[in-house]
Amino acid sequence: MQPETLAVHAGGAIDAETGAVIPPIHLATTFEHPPDVGEITGYLYGRYANPTQDRLETALAALDHGARALAFASGMAAGAALMQTLPAGSHLLLADDTYFAFRKLLATSAARWGLEWSLVDMSEPAAVRAALRPNTRCLWAETPSNPLLKISPVAELATLAHEAGARLVVDATFATPLLLSPLALGADVVLHSTTKYLGGHSDVMGGALVFARDEDWAAAAFETRKLQGAIAHPLASWMVLRGLRTLAPRMDWHCRHASAVAHFLSRHPRVERVHYPGLESHPQHAIARQEMRGYGGMLSFEVQGGRAAALAVAAALKLFTNATSLGGFESLVEHRASVEGPESTTPPGLLRLSVGLEHPEDLIADLRQALGAD
Ligand SMILES: *Cc1c(COP(=O)(O)O)cnc(C)c1O
Repeated sequence: MQPETLAVHAGGAIDAETGAVIPPIHLATTFEHPPDVGEITGYLYGRYANPTQDRLETALAALDHGARALAFASGMAAGAALMQTLPAGSHLLLADDTYFAFRKLLATSAARWGLEWSLVDMSEPAAVRAALRPNTRCLWAETPSNPLLKISPVAELATLAHEAGARLVVDATFATPLLLSPLALGADVVLHSTTKYLGGHSDVMGGALVFARDEDWAAAAFETRKLQGAIAHPLASWMVLRGLRTLAPRMDWHCRHASAVAHFLSRHPRVERVHYPGLESHPQHAIARQEMRGYGGMLSFEVQGGRAAALAVAAALKLFTNATSLGGFESLVEHRASVEGPESTTPPGLLRLSVGLEHPEDLIADLRQALGAD
């Protein structure tokens, strides 16, 4: 089935007990079992698994063509669980613009977990090959990346990883399963912050791992979640599942609106550079065209005049709200260097846009007035 159909139906089996078309939210934390626990018929305890989270996982596995999905309390919880399953002594090779909180997590915790890690430009396979170490167990790509919208060649990275005896993880939060199928291209695990497009309404936190194979790695991640407790709450699971139902038409609009905004900005005299994989000028446009079904709703651009000029534009925008996060129906703007803090490597004049579902002409008019006469 096509992703649009899966987004509507996956995990949506009619409730056997009531015939409800929309799934119930099972808030129970505990489930009856035989006195000796013996054969458990269904569920045991809410931290292990629950029926609502299971439905979401069924849907996510189907959408990403995976064998098993695990839902988490947040995207960070999903990524942290995965990192903690790597054997001590492993080297983790990540994209140089990996989501900054993952870099921060490794900076504070990798040594305690016994992990080595380093960063490389994942859009350059030759650089990735050169950065491999004998103990590299995991390549961690993020495509499109945050906030520079770099595109990684997933199929090529998968081959490279497997030849080196490593696995490939792809953080596909910006792409969603609608625009990119990393597992079908050879990746081993997909990571999503479901807080973003999958939830889609800026009102629920969540994360997910989708495994290509139901293997030891998936079992280890399940065990980590079970013991550490970073489950997706049943209500959060239900809300992400509801978000999924409209993911396809939302992504279609996000893509079209972002493309219109990117083209407008790329012609504006006060804009030095636009980072959007749908523009032919984007350095990895060809890879994006080959591996993705659309270019997404995220873009960033660099304002002439650096930090002060960028902050002035952000302040003058009316329709775009200054707020972090992305993937909701509403348009957001963010000065990433400010959010990332003193260690940020993001250009100081860069503004990131999460382009929402408003009419693109209104979004462009807002950007036009904020940038000044063109
Ligand atoms: C937001 C985000 C995360 C972290 O997800 P949370 O749900 O905020 O924990 C990870 N990767 C990317 C690309 C993100 O945008």
